Amino acid sequence: MTTQSTNFSTLAIHYGYDAQKNEGSLTPPIHLSSTFTFESAEVGGEMFAGEREGHFYSRISNPTLDILEKRIAALENTEAGLALASGIAAISSTMWTLLRPGDEIIVDKTLYGCTFSFLHHGLAKFGIKVTHVDLSSIDALKAAISNQCKVVYFETPANPNMRLVDIKAVSAVAHELGATVVVDNTYATPYLSQPISLGADLVVHSATKYLGGHGDLVAGLIAGPKAIIDEIRLYGMKDMTGACMAPFNAMLVMRGMKTLALRMDRHCSSAMRVAKMLEAHPSVEKVCYPGLKSFAQHALAKEQMSDFGGMITFEVKGGVEAGIKMMNQLTMIQRAVSLGDAESLIQHPASMTHSTYTPEERAEHGISDGLIRLSVGLEDVSDILDDLQRALGAVSQNESSLLGLS
Ligand SMILES: *Cc1c(COP(=O)(O)O)cnc(C)c1O
Repeated sequence: MTTQSTNFSTLAIHYGYDAQKNEGSLTPPIHLSSTFTFESAEVGGEMFAGEREGHFYSRISNPTLDILEKRIAALENTEAGLALASGIAAISSTMWTLLRPGDEIIVDKTLYGCTFSFLHHGLAKFGIKVTHVDLSSIDALKAAISNQCKVVYFETPANPNMRLVDIKAVSAVAHELGATVVVDNTYATPYLSQPISLGADLVVHSATKYLGGHGDLVAGLIAGPKAIIDEIRLYGMKDMTGACMAPFNAMLVMRGMKTLALRMDRHCSSAMRVAKMLEAHPSVEKVCYPGLKSFAQHALAKEQMSDFGGMITFEVKGGVEAGIKMMNQLTMIQRAVSLGDAESLIQHPASMTHSTYTPEERAEHGISDGLIRLSVGLEDVSDILDDLQRALGAVSQNESSLLGLS
């Protein structure tokens, strides 16, 4: 029997799977099959005509992915889910389905680097108007939106500068003009925020990050109403991108999701301690973490997130150079892009994940050159704090000894 519970961890562990229908196997079998046989030629025809449920080819659906898709839908409190090869596969398959030439998409000012490049170098090339609006201002959205706008898209918190968008307020304005609201929920995960419950239509995820959680796969997920998910499955994914998820990766994502709540609790509590340490540190210029009282949108964070997540951005006094020096002094925290893993990861958006923006575009979109992005991992928090404090200390010592010489 699959679970009747509506509690988060129980759903993440049990939902959509019945061991008794699978030889008693506690964990779901990995269906390594590209194609599925038909009981009769007529049955095959009915499946192709959409008159009968069932799997017929793994670029469209697969029984292992099916469990994961049901699970993400349950966790996001919506009807249906879709598993894809990557976060960018989820985002691009969604956009190819929802937009056509002449349409406009309104997106927030700050977006993950490859999403920004997909919009400007992909969608724009095919006659879709891409408009950036500061979605933290509802008045700015009201001023910009018209009937031409078919999709409003944003991340909250945004990668990399942590800015939040008020999901409820933006959805209300977008819906008045009939636009579909799509939220990239990679940073918050459904454990901390459920955008569809707050009024959004669709959620996309890079499951590479917290959902997978172990840095061993690349995967994407979409969740939303069944009618839209069916369309994305049969058009955006099947025909336009072909970017379906491999069954083995579906198993890995499901394994990660079983411990999502446990891991997120630890990510959040450690990140809060790290953010407070950084804020008090004399070598740190600025810290952005939604849990800090000094964070400009702290009130909104408390309203639409149950906790504040594991991502922090900060700037070291002395700008880019000092920041890079500090990163090179770290011994336990790993210099790497990606996020949401057990290992703490640190990177420099301007030269790494957000180098898809030109310097002018970064300035315009609120990604400063000195910004450092830290994904607080699951190590003992004392070791994360020690590593950062030692590295910050080394940089400020360096600076004061230079000053002493001059
Ligand atoms: C990483 C990331 C993506 C892209 O996901 P991939 O799995 O790398 O394709 C999209 N949005 C956000 C917010 C991300 O952090």
